[in-house]
Amino acid sequence: MDSTHGVLDPVLTISFGDWLALSASSSYCEEHALTPANDCDVKSVMGTHHRDRKETSRPHDDVRNDDKKDPADVRPKKSEEKKDLLDVLPSEKPKPDLDAVRIPHLRSISPDRPLKAKFPKDCTFEEVELPLEGDGPKTLCLLFPGAREGILTLRGFPAPLPRAAKSLSREPLYDIRRIPGLGRGAVANKALQPGDLIICERPLLLFPAAFPKHGPESRGTRFKDMVESLPREKRDLVFDLHNCMKNGLKNVKGIIDTNSLGIGRLPGSYKGAYAVLCPRIARMNHSCSPNAERCWDLKSMAFYVRALRPIAKGEQICITYCPLLQSRVARQANLSQWDFNCACRTCSMPKAESSKSDVRRWILDTSLQNLTDKPDFRDHEHTLKKWAADPSLPDDHVHKHSQLQLQLMDEEGVYIEELWFAHCEIICKALCALQDRKGVVKLAKKAAIMSTVYRGTRGGWQNVAAAPEKTPWWGLRKKTAELKALD
Ligand SMILES: [Zn+2]
Repeated sequence: MDSTHGVLDPVLTISFGDWLALSASSSYCEEHALTPANDCDVKSVMGTHHRDRKETSRPHDDVRNDDKKDPADVRPKKSEEKKDLLDVLPSEKPKPDLDAVRIPHLRSISPDRPLKAKFPKDCTFEEVELPLEGDGPKTLCLLFPGAREGILTLRGFPAPLPRAAKSLSREPLYDIRRIPGLGRGAVANKALQPGDLIICERPLLLFPAAFPKHGPESRGTRFKDMVESLPREKRDLVFDLHNCMKNGLKNVKGIIDTNSLGIGRLPGSYKGAYAVLCPRIARMNHSCSPNAERCWDLKSMAFYVRALRPIAKGEQICITYCPLLQSRVARQANLSQWDFNCACRTCSMPKAESSKSDVRRWILDTSLQNLTDKPDFRDHEHTLKKWAADPSLPDDHVHKHSQLQLQLMDEEGVYIEELWFAHCEIICKALCALQDRKGVVKLAKKAAIMSTVYRGTRGGWQNVAAAPEKTPWWGLRKKTAELKALD
């Protein structure tokens, strides 16, 4: 059902025993100053799966060409060079006269995730169609006071839908087919490459995750009102969707609970999460090692689904409905709210293999927790600086752990956005310090694809792939060895 190809080719091979040894060393991340990222927390609220996206800073996208002065001109004299070695490393404010490419940085792991949704007292929703102007379909929104104003004043809102959206709606890259045991699902009608845009869809409905239990503002009542106010053809799209809630096939509340997707917070004072109904994306089934990933973009008010791995023609396109770093048993329990037993390749493994998979996911989950607990991800630069200045340490002293983490994600077919980028950044800096051009280019190209999948832009990684020698980390390790040799 879902392929086993990873985004990354395995960087190195290690045994399962090595993973266990790694996991046993809970201080490993601290030792290597691995601070983290988190988001990847997929919450289940009111029977829907909500991927709570937090506001993390975007990686830098810039190539600094504003000053063409040769960096050699600003290099300190030999006598000063050793003292200032650590000063040439990247800092928050790179030297303005450096013709540098910055390695995109995961600045912080924001704790700014949606709080558990709670309906404000004496509050009434506002129903509005957004965007008010611009092309493409509109979304019927149910918003708390202040959200509409916040969205309309968002810089760049409404961004037009990409041109690809039109051609995709005319010629979809998948067919909806019957999948044994799963009802209908999306099957690729041509081979897809990582990063390929599969769906760009503006939701039919957008609504908060919190509703009062009873009364005119209750979920059932508001959902029914919203769907009834849709044009006939859109209403038919809603009623054609599956309802797994066993409360009547055409029950609007059951249909929305079965098919909605979380989008996290919106502007305004309300701290809880919102969700949307996208009938086309709702056709995609779940896998615990998905081959596609969705990305919400408020400015264009659309969900984008892109290929996460190579997808063969005839292969089912799957996203995920639940937190992927849980054990198989926990995932199955979570997925039971959609009334199905997952039979993806990971869940179908023999017991011994399944146990190993659980351990791998546990290790990744622990690593993610370590990142979350240390919101200042820039800590890792200190470790890299110390390593670069100490030739007695092995070349892979710092980034070996990060390579193992990426390999682990490849093996599981599970990519946790911020965890992946956190380790990618470390490896990239270390490989630059070692002047491993081939390694940096390969990784940066993959990072550009991953960034496109998760964030909709290449995030500056294409600049790193094009000119790794222009990063401030380039050759740092070699330079240190040369200085030591002078001693
Ligand atoms: Zn599964």
